[in-house]
Amino acid sequence: MSSQTLGLEPRLRDYLVEFGVREPDVLRRLRERTAALPDSRMQISPEHGQFFHVLLRLIGAARCLEVGVFTGYSTLVTALAIPDPGTITACDISREWTDIGREFWREAGVEQKIDLRLGPALETLDGLLAEGREEAYDFAFIDADKENYAGYYERAVRLVRTGGLIAVDNTLWSGQVADPRAQDTATVAIREFNRLVAADDRVEISLLPLGDGLTLARKL
Ligand code: CA
Repeated sequence: MSSQTLGLEPRLRDYLVEFGVREPDVLRRLRERTAALPDSRMQISPEHGQFFHVLLRLIGAARCLEVGVFTGYSTLVTALAIPDPGTITACDISREWTDIGREFWREAGVEQKIDLRLGPALETLDGLLAEGREEAYDFAFIDADKENYAGYYERAVRLVRTGGLIAVDNTLWSGQVADPRAQDTATVAIREFNRLVAADDRVEISLLPLGDGLTLARKL
């Protein structure tokens, strides 16, 4: 797992961030606050956030779903990119982490766009389907426990509208997906997920070497 793009030498990566990222002050401070946490590598990189900003604007996303909030950097990127009114249904299990996010969402003036649902995300997503929110979302970002990726993805395919986009983080998993010696449960789950998506004819895909690997799946 990495909060920077894989395989870039540090000097080139610094250059990329200097010239390729426009990070608002509130996002920078949230990133710095998160960097002090032991799990800070779970945060997406600023270049990934920048990519999402442009991507969300390109597809005109207004209704977004996020599975795995952590301290809310990607949530804040999304909230700043979508119009008002626009909404993010944000799923996580940790009040401690999401409380950090809330502080910065409030400060950025976008808290009203974020509907935080604390609890196991599979249950939250099933609840959204039960509420009749099939095809209700323009964009879904999956970045949570890897063992449940396939389950999150299946639900996201139903929740996102035709032509909508599902983005899935960590799909290159520090390169371990391509190393047959790596057989831990997270690596095996991501490998199986990648196999599933590669063969899924309900979507068009692109797997980008951005951050720790980012899969884009556009629903047909
Ligand atoms: Ca991640």
